[in-house]
Amino acid sequence: MPMTTPWTLAQRAARMNPSIIREILKLTELPGVLSMAGGLPSPDTFPIEEMREACARVLADSPREALQYAASEGYGPLREWVAGQLQKQGQKVSPAQVLITTGSQQGLDLIAKILVDSGAPVAVEAPTYLGALQAFAPFEPIFTSVAGDADGPLPEAIARLPHDAPGTRFMYVLPNFQNPTGRVMPEARREAVVRAAQAAHLPLVEDNPYGDLWFDAPPPAPLAARWPEGTIYLGSFSKVLAPGLRLGYVVAPPELCPKLLQAKQAADLHTPGFNQRVVFEVIRNGFLDEHVPRIRARYKAQRDAMATALQAHLPAGSEWSAPQGGMFFWIRLPAGCHAMALLPKAVEAGVAYVPGEPFYAQNPDTRTMRLSFVTLTPEEINRAVATLGRVLREHLASDNQQETP
Ligand code: PMP
Repeated sequence: MPMTTPWTLAQRAARMNPSIIREILKLTELPGVLSMAGGLPSPDTFPIEEMREACARVLADSPREALQYAASEGYGPLREWVAGQLQKQGQKVSPAQVLITTGSQQGLDLIAKILVDSGAPVAVEAPTYLGALQAFAPFEPIFTSVAGDADGPLPEAIARLPHDAPGTRFMYVLPNFQNPTGRVMPEARREAVVRAAQAAHLPLVEDNPYGDLWFDAPPPAPLAARWPEGTIYLGSFSKVLAPGLRLGYVVAPPELCPKLLQAKQAADLHTPGFNQRVVFEVIRNGFLDEHVPRIRARYKAQRDAMATALQAHLPAGSEWSAPQGGMFFWIRLPAGCHAMALLPKAVEAGVAYVPGEPFYAQNPDTRTMRLSFVTLTPEEINRAVATLGRVLREHLASDNQQETP
């Protein structure tokens, strides 16, 4: 008799898909591949010496507390530090509203857990951060994609939501150097988006891991500063210190804090107290004020290298604009190019990218791709983009363009 499995998977498990990015990253780990695929901060920016000293200090000064179970809300001094930083960018935040999470990725999970029922509408940008779609999906929302342009989501599309998707629980939005498009929402659009959201009675979930990585001018004040009662704000230490620390935070309106805390407790009791204390030791005396400008200068040079390389090597009809911060270029290829179908050819030629398709909740634009400029050196960026350009031009010159679906 064939053995039958004793396990029955939950319906929500069917909503979980292998991350296409992770699958692609496997390809890009092949030797000799120049990868512009992963959104990995440059390890050259990790403050290794400062971390080493801070670990030693925490273990010398408060080893028993640092290694003990800790409060679910997070380490008090770190919550105060976060509230202080956000106040500087115009947000009215008390430390009591700050929940330290295990990466901002966990914040996305907790938010969906307390706000999304099966079948409830959730609005997202088109395209949006793939990891947010993955975090929300197990709660079985119905995604509504909000149309946008180079400045962000269109206020008139937000205004239509009460009609098109009544009862939308929230709109997930990335105003600063969005993953994947790199776009930043200008002041006027922020105002218009918030006004439209307020009129539509549509709460906002504002994700801001890239806001500090601006190259020319800091971005305008966050949406949360304009509508604190209607906005949940997420931040992260991943892009300004190191992602391996898994430290992020959620700032919620007071009425939501108890539920978020209960969800956090159930998920993992608390974010590692040791990591929180170490990070607080590193940043407490203004370290980031010197450190973040160094990251900006480095990434800006890499951005410039990629802009020059794209100009030199991509085939006519390709469209992009240089991002003013963050980590990504978003490219729209000429007609006849299908980014997903071309990826194996690119990897074979020694270069990798992420196709844009998985960043759309619906109706993907299959001609799009995301290129990260932060992991390769300017010289490698030039070589990688030259190779990519060659692959694209060969494809466009061949007869088999139709082969791409
Ligand atoms: N939001 C966005 C838009 C991201 O790009 C990322 C990381 N790639 C995250 C959230 C999660 O970051 P972390 O969990 O490391 O804070």
